[in-house]
Amino acid sequence: MPEIPDLEAVRHYLMPRLAGLRVAETETPLPWLVRTGAEEFATLAGHGFGEIHRLGKFLIWFVDDGRLLVVNPMLTGRFHWVEKGTKKPGMLGVVMRFDDGHEVRYSDMRRMGRWYLVPKDGLEQVPQMATLGPDALAISEEEFLARLKPRRGQIKATLTNQEFVAGIGNAYSDEILWAAGLHPHRRRATMDEADLRRLYAAMRSMLEESIAIVDATVQGEGLGKKEEWRQHLKVHRRAGQPCPKCGSEIRGQVRSGSETNYCLTCQPLFE
Ligand SMILES: [Zn+2]
Repeated sequence: MPEIPDLEAVRHYLMPRLAGLRVAETETPLPWLVRTGAEEFATLAGHGFGEIHRLGKFLIWFVDDGRLLVVNPMLTGRFHWVEKGTKKPGMLGVVMRFDDGHEVRYSDMRRMGRWYLVPKDGLEQVPQMATLGPDALAISEEEFLARLKPRRGQIKATLTNQEFVAGIGNAYSDEILWAAGLHPHRRRATMDEADLRRLYAAMRSMLEESIAIVDATVQGEGLGKKEEWRQHLKVHRRAGQPCPKCGSEIRGQVRSGSETNYCLTCQPLFE
């Protein structure tokens, strides 16, 4: 599932390339992905985009007439930037063809992504947007602590709860908790303030370092080969390999289809 560094790389890649271009036409081979309707989506023709922002796992494209194009790629949504006529990817769902012959394509193997074209003040119409917590890159340390303290449950479940803080998923929660030395199943109620401050610092540094790495990768290889870039991760999906900090074997636990990885030496469950 694309998380903050992946979506940051997508918007950093596309924004300068879209500058000055206008949509010539749209196609929606998987029309139901556009929840506000393929006909409405086609009215993007003749318009260009300004900035692309990110809020949690949503990308928000500013249309030049004030409307907002909101995309949540969910599990497998992938963006492509290609010239017209390039071989089509599998499960091509949405195409925006620009007046210079380039196309933004969106493919989605699981077909779970969601697109919405809404008025300037229409963000609240987008499901989950109204209940989204502050973005993990925007939240201050004090706000993070204030929001975390009333929560009692397992820390990984909290960190990946989009209503608590937006943008962190299964992969980066493993990385952040490993960097902070906190077991993913440890209950927040057993942590002291130093633990919480260490967690905040790990969240910021892990995300910022990863954004730099993924940005550089995507600038080099282009969009479309992947929807998530994971080669730099230290523990996620590395069960059985040695922990980069202490050499102990990285553990893996699968619960309801998603894997949690951690090092029991660096992240003891009880203290
Ligand atoms: Zn370790």
